[in-house]
Amino acid sequence: MLLKMVANADDDTMSTSFSGIEAPHTAACANRLALAKHLGIPPDQVPLPKLLHMIEWDSENQEELLLIARQTGACLFSDIASFFRQELQETIDNLKENPALSVEVLAPIIAAGNAMTDRGFCLTHKRRCQLSSAKKHTGGTSCVPFSKRGVGLGLKDPATIFSLAFIGLRLLLEEPDVTQENVTGADISLFERFLAPRYHFEVMELESTLLGWPCARRRQFVRMRHRVKVLAEISPLARFSRIFQRGCTFDWRQFFFADRPQFANKLTISHELDKELEWAQGRPGSGGFNQDPVSLDDPLCFRKVLTSSEEWFRTVYANQWPDSVFQLNQNPDTSFETHSAGQVLATVIRNTHLLYWDVKDRWMSGTELLCTQGFPCYPPMRSSYPIKLLELIGSCGSCGAAKVENTW
Ligand SMILES: [Zn+2]
Repeated sequence: MLLKMVANADDDTMSTSFSGIEAPHTAACANRLALAKHLGIPPDQVPLPKLLHMIEWDSENQEELLLIARQTGACLFSDIASFFRQELQETIDNLKENPALSVEVLAPIIAAGNAMTDRGFCLTHKRRCQLSSAKKHTGGTSCVPFSKRGVGLGLKDPATIFSLAFIGLRLLLEEPDVTQENVTGADISLFERFLAPRYHFEVMELESTLLGWPCARRRQFVRMRHRVKVLAEISPLARFSRIFQRGCTFDWRQFFFADRPQFANKLTISHELDKELEWAQGRPGSGGFNQDPVSLDDPLCFRKVLTSSEEWFRTVYANQWPDSVFQLNQNPDTSFETHSAGQVLATVIRNTHLLYWDVKDRWMSGTELLCTQGFPCYPPMRSSYPIKLLELIGSCGSCGAAKVENTW
């Protein structure tokens, strides 16, 4: 069975939208490498899924994605709304100002199949490129309209236009297998309205802690399988998730590894903790601003470069929740206070800022934060992969210290 999977992997293709720094392709490649290890096959003999295109508009994320694009030849497009046909662009611009009308105005055009074009300006090849239909498409449409911490505007949010563009592209490309990810409870009525005639829908919640990973991330997944292109469903996601349920055998403390001497030159960014300190001290509000550079030799160095509000929050958190990781831009006196619970790290959000552990008296570095989200940045893991493969699977080489974006 597993050998058959390897044999069939050769013509596997995928595409993504709103992937941040390309978690879907990274996960797919890491799974293939795990398969190779399990079967005792050299890792470069298991074909990796071919990435055809990515759509992501955050410019810092695009820098990361271009590293992958250059290795894989994948096209990278910026704004998904640019795939609305040219003659609709003025309407789209108006709807961005008045998003409450976007469903009403665009629904008939999308339903008629006249809304989208498959060509757009590609940042990889610096010209207009054509989207092609991959076997699998994965996308995390904006969760802000539905998030507790977002503004909660639901379908009246400007991001609805981007969800409609996502739907329009699925109707145009009709990939056999589409996965859409969002916060739990997100309204999927738009997806059902347009896509249910062509796709079987399965909706379920997955929580990474139930799969043995000590970082909370409860998310809603909508799996859509094409009614004509995919045979009858034999493996629903619900059954799959139960097979892989297991207890956590480690906790978030093990993600704080950047200060181990043996890893000093093996992190994604060399001398990463020094760079974290340098960045923090250079902020005008920092307690160490315009003073002699602090050094890692000082056990309180990270505390000394916090701003006054960060230091205040740190004190409150450390008193109320000792030996935990807390988020220094979230007020501990409000319902938005964010700290680890037992062995589990709180969900990492887009605006994560500094995740501080009072016992270690420092915050988590960018590389460590990526590891919490399953990116293969842990030094011993990286050293077991061939370099060429690492470049393909999201090496995250240019992630700036302390400003790692959310992975979805
Ligand atoms: Zn291209």
